Order: sequence, then C-alpha cells, then structure tokens
Amino acid sequence: MNPTTVHTSFAELRDRLLPDAATGSGGPLDVLDPATGEVLTSLAAATAADAGAAVDTAAGALRSWAATPSRQRADILHRAYALMTERGGELATLISLENGKSRPDALAEVAYAADFLRWSAEEAVRSDGDFTPAPAGGTRAIVTHRPIGVAALVTPWNFPAAMITRKVGPALAAGCTAVLKPASETPLTALALARVLRDAGLPPAALVVTPTLDAGAVVGAWLADDRVRKLSFTGSTAVGRRLLAQAADRIVNTSMELGGNAPFVVAPDADLPAAVAGAMIAKFRNGGQACTAANRFYLHVDVLEEFVRRFGAATAALTVGPAADPATQIGPLINERAVTEVDRLVRDALARGARISHRAEAPRTGCFYPPTVLRDVPADAQVVTTEIFGPVAPVVAWRDEDELLAMLNGTEFGLAGYVYSGDLRWALRLAESTEAGMVGINRGVVSDAAFPFGGMKQSGLGREGGREGLRAYQETQYLSVQWD
Ligand code: NAD
Repeated sequence: MNPTTVHTSFAELRDRLLPDAATGSGGPLDVLDPATGEVLTSLAAATAADAGAAVDTAAGALRSWAATPSRQRADILHRAYALMTERGGELATLISLENGKSRPDALAEVAYAADFLRWSAEEAVRSDGDFTPAPAGGTRAIVTHRPIGVAALVTPWNFPAAMITRKVGPALAAGCTAVLKPASETPLTALALARVLRDAGLPPAALVVTPTLDAGAVVGAWLADDRVRKLSFTGSTAVGRRLLAQAADRIVNTSMELGGNAPFVVAPDADLPAAVAGAMIAKFRNGGQACTAANRFYLHVDVLEEFVRRFGAATAALTVGPAADPATQIGPLINERAVTEVDRLVRDALARGARISHRAEAPRTGCFYPPTVLRDVPADAQVVTTEIFGPVAPVVAWRDEDELLAMLNGTEFGLAGYVYSGDLRWALRLAESTEAGMVGINRGVVSDAAFPFGGMKQSGLGREGGREGLRAYQETQYLSVQWD
C-alpha cells in the first residue's frame, strides 16, 4: 500500500495496523471520513486482473493450509483473537475513522469481531465426522467434512471488522484459503485484520484482500473462476440476488446474509423501562445501520403512549457527533446518499400522516441524521416496509395478535425480530410464529458468535457463527466401505 496520508490520526495508526503490501494495480480508491468528508488515504484499487492473481495466490496456498492440522489452525486463530484484543483500541479508532461509528460502537464491534476468531478456533478442532454400520448391513459408512476450497468473501461497510471475522474465522478454521473483497468505503479495517492474522502466524497467501471500486468486475472474475468453490456474501438483498444468479452458472456454493426489516413488539404486560432500554440498543446501535436494527415498532395500544414518552425522551437525549468527540453516542451515516434516503423515507411518512414525536439534535454539516421517533405511522408506509438503515423509529399501534402477526410476517424479509412481554409463554409463541431467523425475547440484541446468525425468506441463505458456521466452508464426503 502506498497511502497518501492527509490525516494525522490515521498516519499514527498506519504503520502499526496496516500492511505495507500493494493492494492492486488500478486507479485510486479514496477512503473518506464520513464525519468530515475528508480523504483519509488513497489506495491502489484492485482490477479484474488483480482478482485473478488473488485466486492464484489463495489456490496456491490451499493444499498446504488444508493439510495443516486443525490444532495448528486453531492456535493461529487463538493468537489472532489475542492480538486483535490487544490492538482493540487502535482498531476501534480505525473503524471510527473510515466508518464514522462512535467510540463505544467501535469498541463493541472489535470485541464482537474478535469473538468470531476465538469461536472459530474452538470449532476448528471439533469438526466431527461419523462411522456407522449401514442399516442394510454388510457395509460401513465413513462420513467426513473437508475444506470446500478457495472461498470468495464479500462484506459490507456497516460492521467492517465483524462481517469479515464472521467469514474469515470459520473459512480458515475449516482449512479453506480465501480472497476477500471488503466494502470500498471501509477497506482499511480489512487490511488491518489481514495484518493481525499474519502477525498471528497465518501464511499471507491464505487470505488475500482486494479493495476495489469495481466490485462487479472483481467478484464476477471470482465467480467465473473454477478454483473458487464458495461465495459468502453479506450485504443488500438486491446485490445478493444478482450474485446468486451469477453463482448459478458454476453452481458455486453460496451463503447469503442479506437485508433485514426487524419488528420490535411490545406487549401490554411488558416491563416498559426494560423495553425502552432494549429498543435503544436494537434501534440505535451503529446509528441504526445494522441489518438486525429494529426497523418498525409495534406497540400495544394500552402501552403506546407511555412507551413513546419514555423512548422518545431517551432518543431526544442522544448525543450525535463525530466519533472523535468522546461524548458522541451516535456517529454520522456512511455517506450523503444514506442521509438523503433516510430523509426521503421520513418525509414520505410525514406526508402520509405520521408525526415526529421526538427528535435529537445533530450537527448540520457532515453526514448526520438526527435520531427520530415517528408516531401515527401508517402500517404500510415506506419507512415501515423498507430497511431504513438509519436512526429513525416508526411506531405503529396493534390491538390483537392476528393483526400483529400479519404485520410481522407481511414482508419479504425475515432476519431478526424482538419481543417484549411479561408472559414468556406468549412471547415464545409469538417468536415461533414469526418468520425470522433470530428473535430476541426481552433482549434488544441477538448477535453472538456462539449461535447461528442468519435470515429466513429474502434475508438470506445459511447461517454464520454457532455450530453451523464451520459447515458453510466444508464439503461432506461419505465413503461406503465393504465390511464383510
Ligand atoms: P451492498 O449490497 O451495497 O454491498 C455489500 C458488498 O457487496 C460490498 O462489498 C459491495 O462493494 C459489494 N457489491 C456491490 N455491488 C456488487 C456487485 N454488483 N457485484 C459484487 N459485489 C457487489 O450493501 P451495503 O450497503 O454495503 O450494506 C448494507 C446492507 O447489508 C443492508 O441491506 C444490510 O441489511 C446488509 N447487511 C446484512 C447483514 C446480515 O448479516 N444479514 C449484515 C450486515 C449488513
């Protein structure tokens, strides 16, 4: 990398966190600070030719990495976890610089991201197979799980570290090598994580990072390459759909973590202070730029007024500003386009009869949007049916369970949901009737490396983390053995 540095904080971080290797042979990829619009640095972007060279490298390393005993692979991942934790403060600064998220959000992301390395290290040595007599008799079956091959990983900007370790951890644990295309907005965190893994003992060729401005060309080259056997994508449903179609040409094994539209349900018997605390996390973590973000709030009419009063007061009290300010709780959105889109959704709701019940202050320059609670929102307003990806909470009233369920499931998305109720049996019944891959019950956060993360319907295919995470990077092979 040959960065033209214009930011002193970044300059201080660069030597310690970022590798010195060149990233590509293409034109400049400017990395911006979303709080100021300032160019932090400029990288040489990867081209389609660089994408091919990345696969050459990863494919060249595959045999030896796959043959490395899983205990050694686990040891490297354990060391990477420790190093990432040790460098946590600096990594959080880097994340805040290129993504804009507040210091508490960035620190929380580093801890969450590092946990995928630890969990993957623990899973690496527990890839059980099977040996069993065939039911028909006479033969024995051996079932094993082996690395699928070179994995192509494509990640978004909203969790620039965690969305990478959630893929890289299990891929390396399984014995795969990988090529990684991070979001063009946040390539520096990806490069810093590759450095962490290298410093932990990973052969550099086992993970090649290719930041680019031409995602279509780079990922297209990978999907056309016979040596690439896996595509793991996290991003929008629209792009996921296109990549699935492309992957169909060579029947590439795919995992898709796509968009969400999580409902947040409050029942009349809910503990309201707890529900408000959960709502603050579910809505405002990362400024609402999370696939699991609560996107629509369904309040039982009996508790709507009190919830809105409490939740609104907490929302209006949020401190919005640049991550560099230690008081900041909510940072900027990723870019101007995001601000314009969130504003469009709010204006559309207001035109349809919604009202702003509470709103925080936000700086007028930079990509900031004030945290906002909307009430009297029609259930079919775009702000309810579309993934907002910003700090806006539309509140809709519900009266009976059938009406509620129809609203919960009346969407093509099915990633996450949240239910607050004093009656656990009711909450469980509702959760089991909700078409969502993850439901938080009396909790405002579901993400945990130890459990399967993923969506139903058009929110995705497959699961990351948990016991399932490793399997996504393995092929199952069955050997039928004549025994008599
Ligand atoms: P995005 O789909 O625009 O981009 C995601 C990645 O795909 C980026 O690396 C981007 O460069 C790349 N990309 C874009 N166009 C491409 C193309 N034509 N070919 C190949 N690659 C392409 O999404 P985003 O704006 O970066 O992220 C926000 C979205 O991600 C939201 O919808 C959010 O819900 C989703 N997301 C989902 C999860 C999950 O686990 N389900 C987690 C985080 C984010």
